[in-house]
Amino acid sequence: PENIGKELTKNSYRMVVLGASRVGKSSIVSRFLNGRFEDQYTPTIEDFHRKVYNIRGDMYQLDILDTSGNHPFPAMRRLSILTGDVFILVFSLDNRESFDEVKRLQKQILEVKSCLKNKTKESADLPMVICGNKNDHSEIFRKVRSDEGENLVSSDENCAYFEVSAKKNTNVDEMFYVLFSMAKLPHEMSPALHRKISIQYDSPPMGMTIECARGRALGLMCHTDPGQRL
Ligand code: GDP
Ligand code: MG
Repeated sequence: PENIGKELTKNSYRMVVLGASRVGKSSIVSRFLNGRFEDQYTPTIEDFHRKVYNIRGDMYQLDILDTSGNHPFPAMRRLSILTGDVFILVFSLDNRESFDEVKRLQKQILEVKSCLKNKTKESADLPMVICGNKNDHSEIFRKVRSDEGENLVSSDENCAYFEVSAKKNTNVDEMFYVLFSMAKLPHEMSPALHRKISIQYDSPPMGMTIECARGRALGLMCHTDPGQRL
């Protein structure tokens, strides 16, 4: 345990979940972390989850940033993008605007990352899943066709499109499995297996208080400077 910190730095990944509000971002994260689903809506400000895995003797760390849909501070979103390694962009299949938001987010991520890596947009290798959620709703509510979703990812082998239901737990594990494969993370981190092997759960990142990580009640009054975590 004493050298956990040192060990972790090399195998540390940050997953960022983005999308309009109420599309099901927190529900998807909750499925991943504990397999549960809540019908009740709880607005997210910005939630952190940290999982530490011991896989064949090596320590791995996965930080999950579950963002709020409305981002009053564009700089915060930019920072989330800059520090993210893998991305899940969520929209709701019954909400056209949320799909447009995903298109904007995808563009912004590619822009921010390509200037960071000094690569062209096309070749920035960024593991990313675009996720059409609420696939359990009847087809008559559908506002986005499957081929429109597929089109967003067709030119990038590190990008995949999934239609899922956090509510019915349809395709969620598959989505994470493919995302982790694209990111070349150990498959043991995928949902089907990770619940058995993770050794630590849901603790706030360094420099961030529990109150801040669970800052729903505090809202954006949290005083921790996100920059400190870089
Ligand atoms: P977020 O704002 O993007 O984090 O969305 P939430 O995860 O808080 O979900 C918003 C609302 O949509 C909640 O009432 C959820 O219960 C509901 N919801 C989330 N996922 C699904 C889903 O797959 N199907 C249906 N029918 N409702 C969902
Ligand atoms: Mg949320």
